[in-house]
Amino acid sequence: MEIKSVCIYCASSSNISKEYFEAANRLAEILVSNNIKVIFGGGAVGLMGSVADTVLRFGGEITGIMPNFMKEIELQHKGVKDYMFVGGMHERKKKFLEYSDALITLPGGCGTFEELMEAITLKRLGIINKPIIILNTNKYYEPLIQMLKKSIKEGFLKEDHNDLWSVVDLPEEVLPAINNAPNWDLTRAMGNI
Ligand code: AMP
Repeated sequence: MEIKSVCIYCASSSNISKEYFEAANRLAEILVSNNIKVIFGGGAVGLMGSVADTVLRFGGEITGIMPNFMKEIELQHKGVKDYMFVGGMHERKKKFLEYSDALITLPGGCGTFEELMEAITLKRLGIINKPIIILNTNKYYEPLIQMLKKSIKEGFLKEDHNDLWSVVDLPEEVLPAINNAPNWDLTRAMGNI
């Protein structure tokens, strides 16, 4: 599957250790060198801002999708030229999915968790069929991965649902994981409802 654009879900916080920035920036560099456009939340802070800085530094393409209320309080990244401003958070998440071929989750807080969980939920139901990659820098997502495993073990999800997402440790593993993401077409989704 040829990937032209990816959406990156990631932290708005800057109060995090430098390993998270390094991994996010490395991923941004890899995406640019593979001519892959980045879709993101449009923020100037945290991993969002850092990813945008790196994409721009390496001459890549990046689009911010942001609700109007965030524009009004000037949260957008000043270097990013391509923006879509939308009515609210729900519309933003819809556009993230509409404009990207794959979804990459970097470490983040509740906003990132929500974006990831919505994508997994929609994929489970066959509404989307895009690779979902979790970049587990510093094993940050270990408790969440354990929770997902537990939900399978306890019967809340099926064993097959393991194929909804892929977990990688390093930025270099993200594109191979996208290319090797298990098929999750409508037949498979419906067979697992
Ligand atoms: P979190 O993982 O909680 O930091 O949330 C990341 C998501 O929160 C982003 O995709 C946005 O939905 C939202 N967000 C929070 N603060 C900002 C900000 N300053 N600029 C842009 N988006 C933000």
